[in-house]
Amino acid sequence: MTIGVSILGSTGSIGRSALEVLSRHRDRFRVAALTAHSNAELLEAQAAEWKPAFVGLVNGGNGEQGMGKGAACLVEAATRPDVHIVLNGIVGAAGLEATLAALQCGKRVALANKETLVMAGELVMRAAREGGGELVPVDSEHSAVLQCLSGRDASELARLILTASGGPFRTWHPDELGRATVEDALRHPTWKMGKKITVDSATLVNKALEVIEARYLFAVDYDRVEVVIHPQSLIHAFVEFVDGSVLAQVGFPTMEVPILYALTHPERITDTGTRRFDPVAASTLSFEPVRPELYPAYQVGRAAALAGGTAPAVFNAANEAAVQLFLDGRIRFGQIAQLIETVVERCSPGSIRSLDDVLAADADARRLTREAACS
Ligand code: NAD
Ligand code: MG
Repeated sequence: MTIGVSILGSTGSIGRSALEVLSRHRDRFRVAALTAHSNAELLEAQAAEWKPAFVGLVNGGNGEQGMGKGAACLVEAATRPDVHIVLNGIVGAAGLEATLAALQCGKRVALANKETLVMAGELVMRAAREGGGELVPVDSEHSAVLQCLSGRDASELARLILTASGGPFRTWHPDELGRATVEDALRHPTWKMGKKITVDSATLVNKALEVIEARYLFAVDYDRVEVVIHPQSLIHAFVEFVDGSVLAQVGFPTMEVPILYALTHPERITDTGTRRFDPVAASTLSFEPVRPELYPAYQVGRAAALAGGTAPAVFNAANEAAVQLFLDGRIRFGQIAQLIETVVERCSPGSIRSLDDVLAADADARRLTREAACS
């Protein structure tokens, strides 16, 4: 019997990579459901090729038979009985409810949508415990950690070091960032990804989100999750054990490897579709500390993580709103960090008892960000 995979966000960068991986493993996996936000044309082409039992378009669509519509289609695609694994490749807060629903139904969630864990890490982990679901990271750094940790006891883990490329502005002077354009910010040195995460890599917000993601996935305190700039993106993470030994996971940057691993973990299956690693071609590996003056939003994110409660959800929502304003040409690059800082300072962190607390904090932070951008 084949394993049913539901791909949320199939028209995006992660979704398209996932279908590429699945096309090499049709004997093992079948596509059970596909969803997208608004790219109906690509979604229809994917549906024609993969013939999933369910297709959902959140926004738009022509009401064709068998095509679910509206945000509810995400939960449906995540919980259908013929689905074993939900690959969540949605960008942003929109992915949260489907993740929770899938875990509550006992599914494996292959999670690219890190915003889910940042907003509501505790609720997500609780849903997995209560529903019997399993959370497996797709994010390359977290996949690296999982692979290094495989078979080890949690008590043996000493420290995680996540790598970051440093983005397109790594070599810029902090005073020059003011004139960075959208085009500059979207020129990522090592990864080809969706626009939001590419801007998050330029501000290093992405790494702050990943620190929070790691805290929940691997149950480590924040003082044991460090970040180092590694411009070549060849080592994805280091894991230090209590005896001082360090393991790292290495490979040319491609999301296809962590996507496949998230589908097969803890097993590995033969795959010859990606470029084999070649140390001589890789040549140089270099590492630098994070320069706080270049990445002010990263510090704000780490502080919000420590504050806990709704603070990470506020940080995430302010960032999503600010990045959208930047991509729309309404604010300058440097204002992203300023807006996030203003909004995080204004919202005192509350406790999270339910999803409603998270959604309320998210909505407030988005509104405040837009207001602060206009003032
Ligand atoms: P993308 O913009 O290329 O794709 C996003 C997908 O989400 C699209 O299919 C879109 O239709 C869907 N979507 C957007 N808004 C939606 C909404 N409101 N409701 C339902 N669906 C919606 O983004 P991406 O680069 O593929 O990133 C997706 C997620 O994976 C993000 O959380 C990102 O941080 C994470 N991630 C991406 C990469 C990468 O290489 N692209 C690597 C690691 C983690
Ligand atoms: Mg990552």
